[in-house]
Amino acid sequence: MEPMPSDSPTIFERIVAREIPADIVFESDRIIAFRDIAPQAPVHILVVPKTAEYANVTELAAGDPGLLAEIVATAEQLAEGDFRLVFNTGEGAGQTVFHVHAHVLAGGLAEGSLA
Ligand code: 5GP
Repeated sequence: MEPMPSDSPTIFERIVAREIPADIVFESDRIIAFRDIAPQAPVHILVVPKTAEYANVTELAAGDPGLLAEIVATAEQLAEGDFRLVFNTGEGAGQTVFHVHAHVLAGGLAEGSLA
């Protein structure tokens, strides 16, 4: 599947706009965080910049490293302990929403496995 054209709102923009519901756990001027609809760990939160300008973490790191740092700090606060931070980057890595987002995974994570 090809990434959506930039003029089509992503599912995450629609969550920011409250057009579709989500279990929102944090919001600031630039960031929103909500529980993943299909959790893969006891804690599975998506931390998402409100801007749709960046499709993936490499674009975000190049374009607004301060915003990437805010995402990491938010992930740490929400995890309340040790956590795994995953940025799927590209279709071949399993990315399905081309609006950069961090998966914050915590609770009962297995050692020695990232997949
Ligand atoms: P990706 O595969 O792009 O790294 O991650 C997209 C994530 O968004 C997936 O883990 C998927 O479960 C989650 N997701 C997709 N649609 C929705 C939705 O409408 N609401 C919520 N809360 N999560 C969603």
